[in-house]
Amino acid sequence: MSVAVGVLGLGALVLLDARADAWHQAEQASSNLTRALEGDIARNIHTYDLSLQGAVAALSQPGLDQATPEVRHMALFDRAGTAEYLGSVAVLDAEGTVVANSTSIVPERLNFADREYFRIHLEQPDAGLFISRPYRSRLRKGEPSIAVSRRLPGEGGRFGGVVAGALRLAYFQDLFSKLDLGLQGSVTLLRTDGTVIARHPFRDTDVGRDISNADTFRRVVAAPSGQFIGTAALDGVERLFTFRRVGDLPLILSVGVSTAEVYAAWWNKVRHLGSILLVLCGATVTLCLLFKRELLRRIEAERALTAAAERLSVMAATDGLTGLANRRQFDTTLNQEWRRASRNRTPISLLLLDADFFKAYNDRYGHQRGDEVLRGVAACIRTALLRPVDIGARYGGEEFAVLLPDTDAAGASTIAERIRCAVTDLEIPHAASPTEWATVSIGVSTAHPRHGQQAGLLVEEADRALYEAKRSGRNRVCVAGHFTGARVEPEPLAPGR
Ligand code: GH3
Ligand code: MG
Ligand code: MG
Repeated sequence: MSVAVGVLGLGALVLLDARADAWHQAEQASSNLTRALEGDIARNIHTYDLSLQGAVAALSQPGLDQATPEVRHMALFDRAGTAEYLGSVAVLDAEGTVVANSTSIVPERLNFADREYFRIHLEQPDAGLFISRPYRSRLRKGEPSIAVSRRLPGEGGRFGGVVAGALRLAYFQDLFSKLDLGLQGSVTLLRTDGTVIARHPFRDTDVGRDISNADTFRRVVAAPSGQFIGTAALDGVERLFTFRRVGDLPLILSVGVSTAEVYAAWWNKVRHLGSILLVLCGATVTLCLLFKRELLRRIEAERALTAAAERLSVMAATDGLTGLANRRQFDTTLNQEWRRASRNRTPISLLLLDADFFKAYNDRYGHQRGDEVLRGVAACIRTALLRPVDIGARYGGEEFAVLLPDTDAAGASTIAERIRCAVTDLEIPHAASPTEWATVSIGVSTAHPRHGQQAGLLVEEADRALYEAKRSGRNRVCVAGHFTGARVEPEPLAPGR
């Protein structure tokens, strides 16, 4: 599971890295593009300005008034650009009347005193190179243009008129439309007062629009160049904007690429890599779950097997009728405890029990009732044993054995007596017995085993004591070498006897 999480985490890191890369590339590409466009525009306008400055210089030459109209025209406009986007260059006198025109030797007497550039130069002597708002040219069938103009110095520093040239906005539209900025990309050329001069994609209504109140404009006007993410004032699309002042002109160029498009390719990558990773992780998790299930199944099976084996081994060691240990289990335990007593130099005692007149009981009450008596005797044995190491066993037929490790003859006699009394207290009628109740006889033997002695000795002694108990009247406990009735007088076995 943690492997799957790790793989997903790694995938996420790779994708985040790719995202940052995509953004960085977009920033760089926009930056380069803006720089290149800005250079082109600045160079063109500068070339145009040179023509205007040529005309201004020529007008200040003395004697130009006396020259023929042809010479005058040549002197004024020999440097006028002939590029396709440049319109005519005109000289306006202090009243705004066209006195010379690059397109005709004898100019039409038009008056442009109402034009923005005329009023600016009239009012602001230091306006320098002025770039006008877009307007529809009267000379070129209403084609959108901007005027680029300079003030003409008159006599004594007074206003002498204006030299103005027209630049067709088609220049910018053509320049911008060659760019590949994606479906949502945009390029905008603005005056520093917030007037839109040209924009791509082109919409007629955008030209001349004032966006000086827009948030994006406030940001582009605040620095000579920069980048930011903003929502375009003109179409509401979120873009990465890269802007730059155009040379030293009062113009700003702004290139915008849609943030969604910057990330479009990246999103594709996310979808592809993401689905591959998810499938891989899903497969890993599924395999892990299957593996876990299989493992649990095996553990469960093993547990069941172990439990069955345990049950079997318990069954193999237990006597079916009484639930006590069986003869085999008793023999094993006897040998173990005998060796332990020998090692620890502790006493070990054994009781052998035999139901009295049991053949007669069976004959009279039936074998099944006889079995019930045997179960009753087993219960008496179980109750009498208080220590966990004590073990009661069915020795065979109606005989029982009780092994008492670390118990001396006195302790063993006490327990034997307790069992004998408990059987009597069951008060099972036994008409064929002189006592008229079911009773047991018990032989007790105790030993302090020494190294090399056999456990069989203990059994022999107990058996002999049991025989004594039977012989001397039954329903009694007899300690090896010595027998008593209801009262037990313990006497330790001499070791090795
Ligand atoms: P004694 O007092 O001398 O021991 O007399 P007894 O009749 O008990 O003599 P003995 O020990 O020789 O008899 C054993 C009898 O115990 C034989 C059989 O009828 C009975 N017996 C042995 N095993 C079982 C058993 O598993 N169930 C039942 N009901 N009786 C058994
Ligand atoms: Mg017997
Ligand atoms: Mg018997």
